[in-house]
Amino acid sequence: MVVVQRKELTLLERLYLPEVVRGLSITFRKFFEKPITRQYPEQPLPKDAVTRGQPRLVVKDDGNIACVACGMCEVACPAYAITIDGGETDRGIEREPKRFDIDMLRCILCGFCEEACPKDAIFMSDELELADFSRAALLYDIEKLKRPKSTLQKRIDYVYKLNNRWRRAP
Ligand code: SF4
Ligand code: SF4
Repeated sequence: MVVVQRKELTLLERLYLPEVVRGLSITFRKFFEKPITRQYPEQPLPKDAVTRGQPRLVVKDDGNIACVACGMCEVACPAYAITIDGGETDRGIEREPKRFDIDMLRCILCGFCEEACPKDAIFMSDELELADFSRAALLYDIEKLKRPKSTLQKRIDYVYKLNNRWRRAP
């Protein structure tokens, strides 16, 4: 049988005083350090082209939506968050969505829809805040998703720059 010889504790150790003093000294030191906690929402998150916020639909400069309702993003979405019903338009060969919904409660901001789109019609915006009082309000329809191209331009330029890495020089 192995007998474990325990160290005899001093009076100070039995009172836990060294640990208490050490803990308090750390707390005291931290009082004078620069805080690292972000006071959200008063201090909002920094936003730039890399920010992958909620997906939004591009409205072209002529006022028409860039989406042609091909359904590629709907298929690519791993969260089954997108629902599209396509329809014809008066504009030549163009189609457009009559219904384009994104269930923002399902969306995981993965950006697959942005990557799948062959028409540069959906991009990840820098809109991060998402809150409402009902589940129904977070089912965004086409009107809630539309954004003028200019508001998404930084992200569009960034995605083009990324994709150019894979394009071969002619
Ligand atoms: S960001 Fe991802 S989860 Fe959200 S709608 Fe696009 S593909 Fe679906
Ligand atoms: S992939 Fe692009 S063009 Fe096709 S339905 Fe989605 S947003 Fe529209």
